[in-house]
Amino acid sequence: MTDFAATRAMFDLPEGVIYLDGNSLGPLPRGVAERVALAITDEWGQMLITGWNKAGWMDLPARVGDRVGRLIGATPGTVTMGDTLSIKVYQALASALELRPDRRVILSDTGNFPSDLYMADGLCRTLGPDYALKTVAPEEVEGAIDASVAVLMITEVDYRTGRKHDMARLIAKAHTAGALVVWDLAHSAGAIPVDVTGADTDFAVGCSYKYLNSGPGGPAFIYVAPRLAEAARPALSGWLGHEAPFAFDLDYRPGRGVERMRVGTPPILQLAALDAALDVWEGVDMQDLRARSLELQAQFIALVEEGCPDLTLASPRDPEIRGSQVSCRHEHGYAIIQALIAEGVIGDFRAPDILRFGFTPLYLSPEDVERAAQILCAIMAERRWDKPEFHARAKVT
Ligand SMILES: *Cc1c(COP(=O)(O)O)cnc(C)c1O
Repeated sequence: MTDFAATRAMFDLPEGVIYLDGNSLGPLPRGVAERVALAITDEWGQMLITGWNKAGWMDLPARVGDRVGRLIGATPGTVTMGDTLSIKVYQALASALELRPDRRVILSDTGNFPSDLYMADGLCRTLGPDYALKTVAPEEVEGAIDASVAVLMITEVDYRTGRKHDMARLIAKAHTAGALVVWDLAHSAGAIPVDVTGADTDFAVGCSYKYLNSGPGGPAFIYVAPRLAEAARPALSGWLGHEAPFAFDLDYRPGRGVERMRVGTPPILQLAALDAALDVWEGVDMQDLRARSLELQAQFIALVEEGCPDLTLASPRDPEIRGSQVSCRHEHGYAIIQALIAEGVIGDFRAPDILRFGFTPLYLSPEDVERAAQILCAIMAERRWDKPEFHARAKVT
């Protein structure tokens, strides 16, 4: 059994804060600051440029990629790290489209994160007028998979509602129709059990600063199925994805396997932070994590439905189709979240009316959930959110 008291002790949360926003930016694990400080002083400071070899900087994207890979069911050598998720979405889509040269449609859904849709739209425009991004309602994805679809691009867990797709089923359906799949794990990696190998996915991408706690701007990951990795041509053919970057050839030759998905110089300090943050996962069983997450969510839903009748559940009630977050709707959602934050309970707001709460068993206990629900319900009952300072919108919501 996973020891959640032990994992909780591995985080350095501010005193008095209940953090229900690890789905947006994971908190600081202990040991990360020290590790990054060492990378700065002992590696960069002392080794200077020799750190690329001596400190193993150049291998960090692959080494850390393998550690992330273990959490998503990927075999060693199939995941690499770098850039932001938006870039990795673009890369995966471009490679996948090229592997289906006779088809022109990217299929996605209206619950997808806008950046994924924007990147897909931008890629289609670059490729020409025949290419199109088609979006349907999340419930209609399965029925919309047909022989015109080149790539099915799906984010497994909806960032607003927490609704979870049945990926294994969608992937099987897409493959039967001759399409490839790009699976976005932004709200899955570190949140729910994922098995990219078992589900036979083609490409998977995700970020590390949400449930994997790498810190703001931490690098994204990309997985390419081994059966495709030597055939996939990287659209962003940067020098570090080259077979021999230090040969400085004038011609591009893709590197081996997923290594070709590297673009430019890797963010070593952020990778050092992620590497240290991943230590928390040693000894965590993803099935235990899922069970505990659902317990915490069920507790929260029951308390909120009992104590705050004005909030409507926006997430699926069925835990089988919910990720690791619970969302509610209220027309004054923004102000309610600001009032909550002022009282030490951090959740977030997503337009137009969603209050979002992430459940992360590594550092959240049933006592935290009870206290958070109590504070939320008191704010609602006494309309403590209805103050001018809670209505003023900041740049980042
Ligand atoms: C968080 C998130 C992103 C963010 O992309 P960045 O390039 O890292 O800013 C993209 N897609 C999805 C599905 C997300 O949840």
